[in-house]
Amino acid sequence: MAEFVDGQYFPEGYAVPDPNDALSRGFWEAAREGRLVVQQCRDCATVQHPPEVLCHACHSFDLGWKEVSGRATIYSFTRTVHPANDLLRERGPYNVVLLQLDDHPEVRMLGNVLDADEEGALAIGMPLRVVFERTAVDPDVGEIVQPRWRLAEPESG
Ligand SMILES: [Zn+2]
Repeated sequence: MAEFVDGQYFPEGYAVPDPNDALSRGFWEAAREGRLVVQQCRDCATVQHPPEVLCHACHSFDLGWKEVSGRATIYSFTRTVHPANDLLRERGPYNVVLLQLDDHPEVRMLGNVLDADEEGALAIGMPLRVVFERTAVDPDVGEIVQPRWRLAEPESG
């Protein structure tokens, strides 16, 4: 069961995605429903992220979406203490992780881990699980829901 989170990891006014973007709309629609998806080629089954116009393996334009488990592992991360963006001046430190999906370790995505901003909270190899942040409701584009991450217990078995 998907976990939804109210409140924003980054301050109000910080850049948010356009959920109606032609390339990534399926990703944001799934997030609204509490599902994490990656783009998948209907011809060769390659999965890729972020979404692209064509499959980077076979160059097919016939792309769809595949739901993944929402479990991942920290591949790398950074903890930003001195933000470059003025909007984040009062927000730091915050984290940005490069994670790899457990279902598809060849797929990496950028994310933020909630409740893990203190020094030493994150380490390479830590397990994560996805949650869905209800970031905003924009009168022009609708509800904006972004995947975020929480530290998870290692999967048993
Ligand atoms: Zn392909």
